Amino acid sequence: MTAVGIASGRVSAMADGLTGSSILKIAGDVRALREGGAEVCDLTVGDFKPSEFPIPAMLLSGIEDALRKGETNYPPSSGMPSLRAAVRAFYAEWLGLDYPVESILVAGGARPALYATYRALIDPGDVVVYPVPSWNNDAYCHMVEATPRPIITEPADGFMPTRESIADAIRGARMLVLNSPLNPTGTAFTAESLGEICDLVLEENARRTDDRPLFLLYDQVYWMLTFGATRHVDPVSLRPEMRQYTIFVDGISKAFASTGLRVGWLVGPPDVVAKMANVLGHVGAWAPRAEQVATAKLLGATAELTAYHDVMRKSVQARLTALYDGLIALKHDGFPTDAIVPMGAIYLSARFALIGGRLENGTVLRTNEDIRRFLLERARLAVVPFDAFGSREENGWCRLSVGAVSLGEISAMLPRLREVLQSVKPAR
Ligand code: PLP
Repeated sequence: MTAVGIASGRVSAMADGLTGSSILKIAGDVRALREGGAEVCDLTVGDFKPSEFPIPAMLLSGIEDALRKGETNYPPSSGMPSLRAAVRAFYAEWLGLDYPVESILVAGGARPALYATYRALIDPGDVVVYPVPSWNNDAYCHMVEATPRPIITEPADGFMPTRESIADAIRGARMLVLNSPLNPTGTAFTAESLGEICDLVLEENARRTDDRPLFLLYDQVYWMLTFGATRHVDPVSLRPEMRQYTIFVDGISKAFASTGLRVGWLVGPPDVVAKMANVLGHVGAWAPRAEQVATAKLLGATAELTAYHDVMRKSVQARLTALYDGLIALKHDGFPTDAIVPMGAIYLSARFALIGGRLENGTVLRTNEDIRRFLLERARLAVVPFDAFGSREENGWCRLSVGAVSLGEISAMLPRLREVLQSVKPAR
């Protein structure tokens, strides 16, 4: 996607070379099967089914109330003062991060915040470093004509980048993009591993003699969703000197199952945030005014937030654990499945090591896409191979997303999976 395609002449070379979301294409296959009457366990979209994961009641009533009170016109382009103040207090209370309101820019979800960061920091040809698998960095690089420098990660590290994998890649780079907990893997940084990476960023910046620093874009939209012993960590709390180089991206889409409400924000050094506000102002990618007013109230309501989160985290974790346990039970019974213990977000890294496997009709599964189709058509299990997140290896690793399924759908799917796996002859 990053090589600019030959423009058809009707659109720009950039638009011509930008591909749509492959996850949405897979979701289209699921829809078609369902329309034919099939029951499908849909683990594809990074979204929530409102009947399984409703938004906080306070958010709903807050939006209704704000609309009734006439909060229907343009919001200020950097965000409603009440929301910027609420984000400031929220970060101070929950994360121990102390930022002035000038550091906070509200946007219509995390995506415009990501785009504004890329747009405001990157000149054509600048190097952007990010691990794969990861979400959408290839598209943002393409849009701003960055030179992408993807780094490969390993299942043994939970697909998280390490000091070793990043050390050379950040030399001369303009931006490092990290996300924890990580979409698509459901894994997260430890304080030790992120701290080591921050040290590298600080060393690289200390070496620079010009005024073009290496920035860190830290996407923490899933930070409220961590499980078990996992605690969310961030660069600025670990290494306060990282503050001048770090842009946080965050929002309510995932933490409050509110993907359709479109409220996000970024937090960073005030001088660059002011430029990002200009970028977003011209795009008009503000969060809707009533949603901003209601989000401000929600972020300040610690008791309601805690109560909502206790329920949400348990519900997400129960689904991830059911999938994890199911896949590991199959592995113990000799089937070629594997999974990584879920640490956060709404995802599980799962492996269906079926490359080279032969079906009864003689068909051989040769690619991740073959595996995906096989699981969908035979087990009615819909997953997204890591190819959709920039991985190039045909190894059967996939993202399983649990926001749109019930526990019942997962337990109904696992026996179907066992049955179809029995029908595959392993690779010779
Ligand atoms: N960042 C990450 C890591 C995501 O996974 C997503 C959505 O899937 C987003 C940002 C986008 O969030 P939003 O819906 O608020 O634009």
